[in-house]
Amino acid sequence: MIDGTVRAGLDELSARLAGFYRDLHQHPELSLQEHRTAQRVAEALRPLGFEVTEQVGGTGVVGLLRNGDGPVVMLRADFDALPVEEQTGLPYASTVRAVGADGGEVPVMHACGHDMHATCLLGAAALLSRASGTWSGTLLVVFQPAEELARGARDMVGDGLFQRFARPDIVLGQHVSPLPAGLIGHASGPVMAAADSAEVVLYGRGGHGSRPESTIDPVLMAANVVTRLQGIVAREVPPAETAVVTVGRLQAGTKDNIIPDTAEMGINIRTYSQPTRELVRTAIERIVGSEAAASAAPRPPDLTWTMSAPLLVSDPAATQTTVAAFADHFGEQCLLPMPVVSASEDVGVFGEAAGVPTVFWFWGGLEHQTALSALRDGRIDSLPGNHSPHFAPVIEPTLSTGIQALTVAALTWLGKPPARRP
Ligand code: ZN
Ligand code: ZN
Repeated sequence: MIDGTVRAGLDELSARLAGFYRDLHQHPELSLQEHRTAQRVAEALRPLGFEVTEQVGGTGVVGLLRNGDGPVVMLRADFDALPVEEQTGLPYASTVRAVGADGGEVPVMHACGHDMHATCLLGAAALLSRASGTWSGTLLVVFQPAEELARGARDMVGDGLFQRFARPDIVLGQHVSPLPAGLIGHASGPVMAAADSAEVVLYGRGGHGSRPESTIDPVLMAANVVTRLQGIVAREVPPAETAVVTVGRLQAGTKDNIIPDTAEMGINIRTYSQPTRELVRTAIERIVGSEAAASAAPRPPDLTWTMSAPLLVSDPAATQTTVAAFADHFGEQCLLPMPVVSASEDVGVFGEAAGVPTVFWFWGGLEHQTALSALRDGRIDSLPGNHSPHFAPVIEPTLSTGIQALTVAALTWLGKPPARRP
């Protein structure tokens, strides 16, 4: 429970952090380039009494506050931005451009709200540090880079996060989302899909477009692969399960009368259970290989699995306890049960690596009246969501709700201070 001591100063803190948020929003950085962001976060965290370590797993920042015996509670926020051109029209909108992954210049925007995540985690760190007399244990705050590449969590774990700092008993995290601000969306069990990406190169034999008999056409091969992949969800995944298979990139050739040597494709899948994930991955490998064989390809295709985010499971028992604390604090009317989301998050890597439960929830960032009238008219899907150039949470009450949610969740799992002697 969050009592008067913890709540004291929340308004003043939120007002000050609103400036911090606008600064992050105006200075977004792409995944793996979050140098300024990491520095700002570390500078803000140090005066709160945390032992602060920078450059953990790349640009990650870790804060540790040891406060007596008790559980180790990990709070996690991500802080990378996306190659999106901001169109919110906000006075603090980003006009930043940076060099993207392929070497070209791209616009950059905090289109997923990770600037809000980092700011709320700083707020919770401040509240919990000030109220250290009300709890006992260790607080591990983790600011993670490169979430949008689904690799930042793995990089931090690989850099010895749990050996160098502390092994948590629970991992807590949240994502701002297109719900009315002030509301908390919760679900338990699988809450976000597992994601996997594959890069495929199909090999043919190029030649003149007028003499197809002298070539092996990788364009026809790729077209057949795309069509055949649609059969996986339709014919192979059991009806009670679900999955998404998307070919988001298909490239071949330079000119209409030249049959190219190769065709390339990028495939992305979303699944909700390990057996289905294995089924879909195996089916993709089989289909890509078989279509190449069917075309008499001169060599087998290359298929590389490039990105992988695990299924995000919010531990049912721990979620129930945490949501009950939210109900106590915010009131039942602020809680919204959520369906499973087909987007993905790599936060699950932390809990999986530590072998402990993860609790993950969503909270609203949409201006209340706009969101409510859209909900009433069944237009909620037409409002900008994460990754849209128009998505930016209203600062309040999003900020103070996010700070309180993390604080309440942390206090639910931290220990009580030892009773004072009379
Ligand atoms: Zn995102
Ligand atoms: Zn995100």
